[in-house]
Amino acid sequence: MTYDLVIIGGGPAGTSAAVYAARKKLKTLLVTSEWGGQSVVSEKIYNWIGTVAISGSELAESFKKHTMANVGESLEVAEGEKVSKISKTEAGFLVETESSKKFETKTVLISSGSGRRKLEAINADRLEHKGLTYCASCDGPLFDGQDVVVVGGGNAGFESASQLLAYCRSVTLLHRSQEFRADEITVEKVLKNPKMKAIKNVDILEITGEKFVDGIIYKDKITGEQQKLDVTGIFVEIGQIPNTDFARDVVALDEINRIKIDTLTQKTQTPGIWAAGDCTNVLYHQNNIAAGDAVRALEDIYLAIHAR
Ligand SMILES: Cc1cc2nc3c(=O)[nH]c(=O)nc-3n(C[C@H](O)[C@H](O)[C@H](O)COP(=O)(O)OP(=O)(O)OC[C@H]3O[C@@H](n4cnc5c(N)ncnc54)[C@H](O)[C@@H]3O)c2cc1C
Repeated sequence: MTYDLVIIGGGPAGTSAAVYAARKKLKTLLVTSEWGGQSVVSEKIYNWIGTVAISGSELAESFKKHTMANVGESLEVAEGEKVSKISKTEAGFLVETESSKKFETKTVLISSGSGRRKLEAINADRLEHKGLTYCASCDGPLFDGQDVVVVGGGNAGFESASQLLAYCRSVTLLHRSQEFRADEITVEKVLKNPKMKAIKNVDILEITGEKFVDGIIYKDKITGEQQKLDVTGIFVEIGQIPNTDFARDVVALDEINRIKIDTLTQKTQTPGIWAAGDCTNVLYHQNNIAAGDAVRALEDIYLAIHAR
C-alpha cells in the first residue's frame, strides 16, 4: 500500500496537518514518537489561540484527541514510532522507523520539531539529573527553598525562572550576551521579583559538585574575572537543536541543521517533501506558527497530489 502522505511528528505542526489531511481525504499516515511536542513541559501556555490558558499536558492531550477523532478511512496513526530514515523510491519515498516498520508514500511532511541544546561546560554531562536539568516544570519542585541558576536569556529561560520563583529561595539567570532574547514584557515581569537576579555577558566554565551540584563557575566576559555561585540546581535553557538527522540524506539543511524551505509553500528543495514548524529555517518558533505553517504545507501538498 502506498500512502498519499506520511506526516512525521505529533506536535502542533504534525497534528494540524493530520486533521486537514483527513478532511481533504488524503490517504495519510501520521508517525510520531510522542504527542504534543515541546510545550508539553510548560505549566501554562497563554497564547494558544482560542484558549486563555492551558497546561502543556492538556495541550498534548487535545492534539491527540483532535487527531484521533479524524482517524478513519483516510487517516491512520502510528504512535510511539520514531522515524530513522527516509529514502527515495520510484513511487515517492520509503519512511522507516527505529522498530523497522516501513511505509511507502507519494509525499512526506516533516514536522519533527526540535530538542534541547546541551550545556558545554566541565562536569555538565556528569552532573545531569544530579542537580543539572533541562526541564524546570518537571524538576523545579525538587528545589523547594533552594538557590538555583537558570542558564539562558530567551523566552524559555525566563519562563523557567518564572516557574522556579514560585518555590526556590533565589533564582539567578545567567545570559551570555548583553541583550536578552526573551519578550520584553516577560523580562520585566520576572525581573521585578525580589528573589530574582540576572547577570549578563557570562561564559559558563564549570559545574561543581561530587555527587550533586553545589555550584557553577562562570567568567565575566567584560572584566575577565571568574566567579562562583553556590547553588544546588542549574536549569539549562540555551536553545534547541532541530530533529532532522533522519532526513539529512534527502533534504537540504542549513548550517544549524534546520530544513531549508520555501516559505510561500513549505516545500523543501526535494520535490515531494515538505517541512513545517521548528525543524525548518524560519525565524520564529511558536505553537501557532508551527500549526499555521503545517496547514500551508498541507494545502500545497493537496494541490500537488491532485495535479499528478
Ligand atoms: C519550554 C518551552 C516552552 C514553550 N512555550 C511556548 C508558549 O508558551 N507558546 C508558544 O506558542 N510556543 C511555546 N514554545 C515553542 C513551541 O513549543 C514550539 O514552537 C512548537 O512546539 C513547535 O511545534 P512543532 O510541531 O514544529 O515541533 P515539536 O513541538 O517539537 O513537535 C515535534 C514532534 O515530532 C515528534 N518527533 C520528533 N522526532 C521524531 C521522529 N524521528 N519520528 C517521529 N516523531 C518524531 C516529537 O515526538 C513531537 O511530537 C515553547 C517551547 C519550549 C521548549
